[in-house]
Amino acid sequence: MVARLRIQARLDDHVAQLVQCRRCPRMQSTPVSGGAVVSDVMLIGQAPGPREPVLRKLFAHTAGKTLFRWFGESCGLSESTVRSTIYFAAVCRCFPGKTSGGGDRVPAPDEIHNCSSWMNNEIKILQPRLIIPVGRLAIAQFVNCTKLEEVIGRKFRVQRAQHSFDLIPLPHPSGASPWHKVLPGKKLLKSALNLVARHPAIRALRAERQLARRTQRSQHLK
Ligand code: SF4
Repeated sequence: MVARLRIQARLDDHVAQLVQCRRCPRMQSTPVSGGAVVSDVMLIGQAPGPREPVLRKLFAHTAGKTLFRWFGESCGLSESTVRSTIYFAAVCRCFPGKTSGGGDRVPAPDEIHNCSSWMNNEIKILQPRLIIPVGRLAIAQFVNCTKLEEVIGRKFRVQRAQHSFDLIPLPHPSGASPWHKVLPGKKLLKSALNLVARHPAIRALRAERQLARRTQRSQHLK
């Protein structure tokens, strides 16, 4: 309990500093944080879109709807449970702006480098058992990702920030890419979500949630 309180205090401090970060002058928003959620599981997105800074949460729009549907169907976890039990991070925490073609700009290498220290610090604080990178850019921060077919549906053992953890990559849930809707992506996505659902850290989250619900119900009946 004391150890958890200590981790919570360090994470609170980390998030308070993160939201003040202004290292990247080309970014078009201030940092978006999923909050100081102490967890054994981290989910890493790519970068916020234009709506996330306004709504002040990551995966707040259409891609998020798909992502939370995946978690609901495979792990039986609702969006509110996922958001309140998994630490949400991203390769870059600010909205990079649009390209001249109208798409979201991919963060530049210097911006990814600038932001990497935030992720490293989160790994040091949380010492997660499982990291779920979502989308090619996030996956590539941990393992080689030339082709999604080579990494989706697999579990890796990875080391970063002097900590070893399991890594289960997911494709980006954005509607812009049909990869996860057609074969072989559709099948590989299912395998990846099965791996996530069966992972001990996710099973522990589910068990904690069920216990909390049972306790709430029994207190309500008293
Ligand atoms: S992208 Fe990351 S490093 Fe750059 S300003 Fe935003 S929070 Fe800071």
